[in-house]
Amino acid sequence: MRDVIITVLYMISAVLFIRGIKLLGKADTARRGNGLSAVGMLIAVVTVLFEKQVMSAGLNSYLMIAAAVVVGSIIGAVWARKVEMTGMPQLVALFNGFGGLSSLLVALAQYANARTLDADAEPFEGITLGLTVAIGAIAFTGSVVAWGKLSGKMFKKSVTIPAKNALNAILALAGLAGIGLYAFSGSNAQLGLIGMIAVTAAYLILGLTMVVTIGGGDMPVIISLLNAFSGLAAAFAGLAIRNSVLVVSGCLVGTSGLILTLIMCKAMNRTLYSLLFGSFGAKKSKGGAGSGKEPKAISVEDAYLILEAASSVVFIPGYGMAVAQAQHSVKELADKLEENGAEVSFAIHPVAGRMPGHMNVLLAEANVPYEQLKTADEMNPQMANTDVAIVIGANDVVNPAAQNDESSPLYGMPIINAYEARTVFVLKRGKGTGFSGVENPLFTNDNTVMIYGDAKQTVSSLVSEFEDS
Ligand code: NDP
Repeated sequence: MRDVIITVLYMISAVLFIRGIKLLGKADTARRGNGLSAVGMLIAVVTVLFEKQVMSAGLNSYLMIAAAVVVGSIIGAVWARKVEMTGMPQLVALFNGFGGLSSLLVALAQYANARTLDADAEPFEGITLGLTVAIGAIAFTGSVVAWGKLSGKMFKKSVTIPAKNALNAILALAGLAGIGLYAFSGSNAQLGLIGMIAVTAAYLILGLTMVVTIGGGDMPVIISLLNAFSGLAAAFAGLAIRNSVLVVSGCLVGTSGLILTLIMCKAMNRTLYSLLFGSFGAKKSKGGAGSGKEPKAISVEDAYLILEAASSVVFIPGYGMAVAQAQHSVKELADKLEENGAEVSFAIHPVAGRMPGHMNVLLAEANVPYEQLKTADEMNPQMANTDVAIVIGANDVVNPAAQNDESSPLYGMPIINAYEARTVFVLKRGKGTGFSGVENPLFTNDNTVMIYGDAKQTVSSLVSEFEDS
């Protein structure tokens, strides 16, 4: 009877995870999806405690679990309240890392419990434990590096590793040899220990060497891949400790992460092979240092006169819109333009911002109708017939060097062809570069004018111009 209850509870939490992830697919149901998945997780955790009889194992284990829950909940709640919207991408990267670290620790704890494999154990058991360690370790250090890069706290300058592929191959093979040594070590504890140390060390270093060289426009893809790794590590951990709900949840995260990685690869015109073994994003380049021309700046008043006469306007938002929290003002300006008879659309680049769907989330929060959000493929053919393209805090995703400068780290990445519009407004604070750190020749084009200042302030001033007219 007890086993039946446990199985049913695990099934309920698996169903809640699956339903939750489905609801996460749309902005208006995402909150409910998150809630359902959290309930699923609570049921799963309580069931594990019940199944393993942790709570009846004595006051000590009860206190330890309670302390971990309280400490974890306090840190999580304070962090979630404090984090700025612009700090979300690095927080998500860190969460991926913690996911990988937990699987790594679960596997190491499982190993430390037994030390040697059972005499009748299949090598499969050792292999799954070894793979949990390997993937968990790579997800952990890789995500910590990604966090450092996204937050600007580590690896600010581009890093190159000589013979990176050879080094990574040696580390990967050393780790695999470690897994083999452990899985076939039988009752030889010493061999097993050497194998475990080898796989843990090799893959912790591999996470670092794999991600540290990634830069330019390639971070989004590697972050999706790390997300997939953290899920796969959990799935393998589930196999290693024979917990079905961990296998299900790990597979859900792993496969959705892999699907996202493939979508991102397509959006960035990369293959998974080039992501893992290429040297893209790390090319030495001056990134098109520009033509020596200075960008032309105009005032809000002059910009208003151009906008007032425009019959088609495309907004191209980027990371700067998130920093400025300008989405609500942008929606107001879009409404004013429509009232004035202009056709308004939003061109959304898949890697605009600092996390997948970043712009979609912000614009949905400001109630911009979903039908107005267009992909680069939908928008680019119409760009030449657009009167004004308003680039709001976007930089890399409109950089023409991606199309015509082979030495640029962005080369090959599809962009939104803002430069084709009759007039291009670029709203940014100053001469800051984008995430890739390369100059943008769009800013000195003849049809481009800069409106310097915080994006929210500039857009609000444009709205006021419409109101006062
Ligand atoms: P970029 O990072 O290229 O550019 C942002 C621009 O916004 C900067 O040039 C900055 O210029 C401007 N800016 C910053 N704050 C403000 C403000 N308050 N008001 C007005 N402008 C502001 O952004 P994009 O969205 O074009 O490109 C995204 C980049 O991030 C790509 O390289 C992508 O690969 C990378 N990336 C994306 C991830 C994702 O999943 N989407 C994840 C990780 C990286 P200034 O300082 O002069 O104001």
